[in-house]
Amino acid sequence: MSTGFVELHCHSTASDGTLTPTQVAELAKKSGMTALALTDHDTVAGAGEAASAAGALGIDFIAGIEISAEYPHPGTMHILGYGVDPENPKLKSLTEDLLAGRDNRNPRIVAKLNEMGVAVTMKEWEDEAKGAVLGRPHLAAILHRKGYVSSIKQAFDKYIGQGAPAYFDKERLTPKQAIQRIRESGGLPVLAHPIQLRTENDAQLERVVKDLVDLGMIGLEVIHSDHDAALVEKYTQLADRFGLLKTGGSDFHGTNKKDIELGNARGRRVPREFYERLVEKLQQLSLAATRS
Ligand code: AMP
Ligand code: ZN
Ligand code: FE
Ligand code: FE
Repeated sequence: MSTGFVELHCHSTASDGTLTPTQVAELAKKSGMTALALTDHDTVAGAGEAASAAGALGIDFIAGIEISAEYPHPGTMHILGYGVDPENPKLKSLTEDLLAGRDNRNPRIVAKLNEMGVAVTMKEWEDEAKGAVLGRPHLAAILHRKGYVSSIKQAFDKYIGQGAPAYFDKERLTPKQAIQRIRESGGLPVLAHPIQLRTENDAQLERVVKDLVDLGMIGLEVIHSDHDAALVEKYTQLADRFGLLKTGGSDFHGTNKKDIELGNARGRRVPREFYERLVEKLQQLSLAATRS
């Protein structure tokens, strides 16, 4: 039996977190984690730096990515890809396509905000993101700093969150495309925070999960900051029933999500065993790929 705890879902300054990949690794070490996966939105640009920092600190590291897939409102479907190879050309083309989807969306958000009398520019958003993937939390931080809203949350509620006037969808991959492209990139697709699907009942949740399994999904994120004890139990049973890997993490974003601490998902920690099963599965799949 393995002991210790791990963090398998978090964001750095490569997307919309506020700590650099090195700082994330340092905090993981300080929080007692023995393994870390960085899962920035639509990019693996932080993976190299995080891997070096984790190596120097003596903790295990696995590269990851988080992709949002097409899914009916008001739900959202996020798919994590673990063990993707940052040097794989398929992964590079995947992240380029994902970033193009953002580049199409972002100016529309800014134009709408301007129309609503909110003075903000793409240049300010780019400066706020400091070369990273432009995320709405960066924009929310600008609106907060300029006094248009009193919190990041209010920026989403009032302006840029789903259902708010300056919300625009970005082009997304279908779940099938997201799963296939993660697998082609050497990664394991895992359904993130199933609570955010907002399924109406257990039967609907099971149908969604079964469809994803048929498409090649390999795991379910059972522990997450949005999951209370009853949900963790429910998703654990579901994962076991479908023979899926179980994963977990806090979804830490630094001060962009103030109430979330690294390594702590609503008071729960993620057992190291989840990390070890994940690595075993990656090894099995890469062996199978070499043989075929
Ligand atoms: P984007 O990838 O640019 O669409 O932005 C997604 C990010 O915004 C994720 O980190 C979400 O957690 C965050 N986000 C989405 N909706 C909200 C909300 N209502 N309040 C706070 N953060 C949100
Ligand atoms: Zn985020
Ligand atoms: Fe997510
Ligand atoms: Fe996330």
